[in-house]
Amino acid sequence: MRSARAIVTFVSAVAFLFAANGVVRLQHAKADAYASAHPDDIAARAHKLHFSTYVIDTHDDTTQRFLSKSPFDLSKRNADGSIDIPRMKEGGMNGIFFSIWIDGKTMGPEAIKQALDQIDLVRTNVAKYPKDIVLARTVEDVRHAHSQNKIAALMGVEGGHMIGNDIHIVNIFADLGVRYMTLSHFYNTEWSDSSTDKPTHNGLTDFGKDVVREMNRQGIIVDISHVSDKTFYDALEVSKAPLFASHSSCRALCDHPRDMSDDMIKALAAKGGVIQINYEKSFIDQAYKDAYAKASGGVVQHLDELKKKCGDDGECFEREMKKDEEKLIAEGKLPHVTWEKVIEHIDHAVKLVGADHVGLGSDFDGANMPEGLEDASKLPKITEALMRKGYSDSDIRKILGENTLRVMEAAEKVSAEMKAQNP
Ligand SMILES: [Zn+2]
Repeated sequence: MRSARAIVTFVSAVAFLFAANGVVRLQHAKADAYASAHPDDIAARAHKLHFSTYVIDTHDDTTQRFLSKSPFDLSKRNADGSIDIPRMKEGGMNGIFFSIWIDGKTMGPEAIKQALDQIDLVRTNVAKYPKDIVLARTVEDVRHAHSQNKIAALMGVEGGHMIGNDIHIVNIFADLGVRYMTLSHFYNTEWSDSSTDKPTHNGLTDFGKDVVREMNRQGIIVDISHVSDKTFYDALEVSKAPLFASHSSCRALCDHPRDMSDDMIKALAAKGGVIQINYEKSFIDQAYKDAYAKASGGVVQHLDELKKKCGDDGECFEREMKKDEEKLIAEGKLPHVTWEKVIEHIDHAVKLVGADHVGLGSDFDGANMPEGLEDASKLPKITEALMRKGYSDSDIRKILGENTLRVMEAAEKVSAEMKAQNP
């Protein structure tokens, strides 16, 4: 039996011979150094796999930090929050969807204006560091960024209220680089019901269905995180392209309306979609969710209270939520939740529908992260944990990013077909 070290060295040597550019050689050199320092075969193999593939996170609220009055520098390692270039690099995260988020009760032209301001902020902040991160609109852009060892920055609009009831805005968002739109946020929009509001439209209205068709036409992925179950089934029926849930977990393990039931996950997968697992503690751990609801009256009521305190200051929301949570943990009112819960949700979904339909949508910088998965630098743990469970390299690659690329590719194809049929 050959030693782990010998196998790693052999594989690296082959990769070295075939590597077309210095970047790949450098990555393998790093992986080799790591392998020699880590005698455990699985740890070394996992590290190597993780740092040689696409690791794409479909939901990050880091955009709110660009809005903040206190300066936030994406290129510096920050003591707080979860995302910046140094920690993304350390964690091998090479694709990020910056979320465009505004309060769910802001509607009409003001909603459009605020969304455009945030899109501009993402684009200008990304443009500051062209050696490390680059705006990507297409799968080809993501692949190109990866080949240059750069992070691909993408955008998702978190809430259909940001089109201000004007369907033409979908086209404008697409032109500016938005690649997915969540149909609603915590509150119903004027055309779609949310999972955390009282249903008023019985899912999607006729206009809501037109919005989905227009998103298909513009190549914007239909995101069904946050929507009511009926909205999900309506969107699934109308959409010509596969959907994804950009940041939702499994309701079978934690009964939260933000999560997906097994039936929903199966229906999503049957049409080629992906559930991108959210790491938020109250979405992954039943005991935490119940205790949090008891202590704070539930997430929506808590957000209403914070709204009074913080107004539109997203960073104030984050800060206050964190403070409240820390206080409740210290008082013993909330249990500890560790990162392995995320693995349980990935594994549940994979057992249910297969590795082709599961991905990562952390909710970093917008939610309470479990212990051990506090920021992007911790992501290699996921790869190692899946490998220890016996997942194949190919399945792990799908979960880490290839499934997201497949859904993006399908959305691009449907868009091209619809535009060719009806220019
Ligand atoms: Zn969200």
